[in-house]
Amino acid sequence: MTIGTVTNSKAKPVNIGEAVQKARDAFNRGVTRPIEWRRKQLQSLMRMYEENKSAMVEALKKDLRRCKAEAELLEIDYLTNDLLSVLHHLDEYTKPVLPRKGIVNALDEVIIYNEPYGVTLIIGAWNYPLQLLLLPAAGAIAAGNAVVLKPSELAVACTTFIAETLPKYLDNDAIIVIEGGPQETTELLKQKFDYIFYTGGTNVGKIVYEAATKHLTPVTLELGGKSPVYIDNSADLVITVKRVLWGKFINGGQTCIAPDYVLCSKEVQDKFVEEAKKVIKEWYGEDPQKSPDFARIINSRHFSRLQALVDASKDKVVVGGNYDAYDRYIAPTVMANVLPSDKVMEDEIFGPILPIVPVENAYEAIKFINEREKPLVLYVFTSNDDVHESFVNNTSSGGMCTNDTMMHMGVDTLPFGGIGNSGLGAYHGKATFDTFTHKKSCLKKSFFPIAEKLASKRYPPYTEGNVKF
Ligand code: NAD
Repeated sequence: MTIGTVTNSKAKPVNIGEAVQKARDAFNRGVTRPIEWRRKQLQSLMRMYEENKSAMVEALKKDLRRCKAEAELLEIDYLTNDLLSVLHHLDEYTKPVLPRKGIVNALDEVIIYNEPYGVTLIIGAWNYPLQLLLLPAAGAIAAGNAVVLKPSELAVACTTFIAETLPKYLDNDAIIVIEGGPQETTELLKQKFDYIFYTGGTNVGKIVYEAATKHLTPVTLELGGKSPVYIDNSADLVITVKRVLWGKFINGGQTCIAPDYVLCSKEVQDKFVEEAKKVIKEWYGEDPQKSPDFARIINSRHFSRLQALVDASKDKVVVGGNYDAYDRYIAPTVMANVLPSDKVMEDEIFGPILPIVPVENAYEAIKFINEREKPLVLYVFTSNDDVHESFVNNTSSGGMCTNDTMMHMGVDTLPFGGIGNSGLGAYHGKATFDTFTHKKSCLKKSFFPIAEKLASKRYPPYTEGNVKF
């Protein structure tokens, strides 16, 4: 196998350069521009979700031992709702916008056209292997682009599902799936794309960004990082613990917007730990390893990474802390009295381990957050609006969610994305369509004599008084 040639799951060798060219040819032929083509593709995608629901649940189970409820909630229903919304708004999104115009342009047309970029590359991550690839894909199609999809090689079953199933439903000239890992992605990034949408870790995000600069290709980077939680003394702790732990333990903690660590007073920490013990038992039983509702770690590399985090702070573990390499199981774990210098506070955890770092107050929490990279999301739990406002006004993060975790992602009128190390650009709902759309501004004038008379003031020779608009 030579670089630039990958084998897809149908065992057909695919030349990456040729595959991208095929998508470009389709775009250049105008295949993807008609609204009816876009609608047909989106409807076929919807049919794919409907007809393959159980295959999708099965693939997620194989990759992550994700339970059916979480598979449906976080990927399939999520995709379906997004698609329904795009289909519903397609005419509204695609039509030209007529912005406000001044008196000077009273006789002219001022228009913003929604132009597709061209050939887009969408690179997905393994933790939500269907949603993170197909949700942006739907936006790219709705916007009239050709699309090259690169699913994550780590979610083997989901990637195979996408590579085998998608071509049965979608236009194979304009929507192409390329399988493979870093080698194939590197080769893909050498090609010229008109837009690149990447989801994954920050380090690879920088590689993607650098590759994009060679062709001055615009990018969206959906990255990760440590998303903090601040729990104020005024928060309802019974509700708070449930909402924090749900966001932490869903998909085995392998969620970009999982609460990474908690900042709170020692008093709140003690109550949180007691409540957490009860909640974990209530949700996953005496032995969470036996629970059908608790996911596994994607592979042994990530398992070992998480095991090392637990081992490095064994003395801080107050709930869980056990693991099983054979099963790639890390117990739902809470650590208390964690120090900023502890290993678990170095990088994004991306697993079911929740460290609590005691702080004196909101002011200290804000200082702590501002001393680190800008997070993808900031969670604040408080009954006090002033506390919420002080985090809004004194911190910077991709998004914020107060008194819950994860749920902001489901509000399709809220653009979702990071800032700084946690990403660049945003999507979801109309923001996805806008991401894949070039806003082409156009001034359309007429040849009416009155218009020309007004315009003629700009022509030389310039005498005093004639160049005034
Ligand atoms: P990953 O390993 O699946 O990698 C992402 C993509 O990058 C894959 O398609 C992979 O093939 C490609 N890739 C990997 N190494 C490469 C290289 N050297 N050169 C070129 N391409 C390469 O995913 P990951 O990075 O482990 O994902 C986890 C990270 O993604 C976490 O940090 C998480 O927070 C973040 N994430 C962010 C979002 C978001 O929406 N912001 C969503 C999910 C995950």
